[in-house]
Amino acid sequence: MKREFIQDDNEEMNNRLVQLLKAVPVRDLIARAIEARDYSYCPYSGYAVGAALLAKDGKTITGCNIENAAYGPSNCAERTAFFKAVSEGVRSFKAIAIVGSPKGKKIDQFAFPCGVCRQVMMEFCDPGSFIVIVAKSETDYKVFALEELLPEGFGPANLDAEAK
Ligand SMILES: [Zn+2]
Repeated sequence: MKREFIQDDNEEMNNRLVQLLKAVPVRDLIARAIEARDYSYCPYSGYAVGAALLAKDGKTITGCNIENAAYGPSNCAERTAFFKAVSEGVRSFKAIAIVGSPKGKKIDQFAFPCGVCRQVMMEFCDPGSFIVIVAKSETDYKVFALEELLPEGFGPANLDAEAK
């Protein structure tokens, strides 16, 4: 597997990501995120995002960003996907693919999850094994473990309470 799309210089992390990715249909997941982006409701920012969340049971749950005239109630694509999944009883996840760029334009940048979405991932995912894929296309993407994007994150384990 090519090293370019894995950003971490840590060889242990690199090896772990390569192993984890064997269980993730990366291209399919990115394709679903690209489709979901078409539904983005972003009249204020004009920035359209799509996400596709892969559950451990094999289901894929998609989401888009949904904005609001009052701004505050807006929701990111990643959280839309997570909240859809959890509201339907799905709480175990392997990976998420994210695509974003100005609406109507070609996806020419990597859209990383905001801090709030990283925290929501932390609630439901193992930071050492949950995979975050940011993509420009099905073949141009970067891969991270959640713990790389949210180092030393605070989560359910800190409260000694299972979120299940
Ligand atoms: Zn977000």
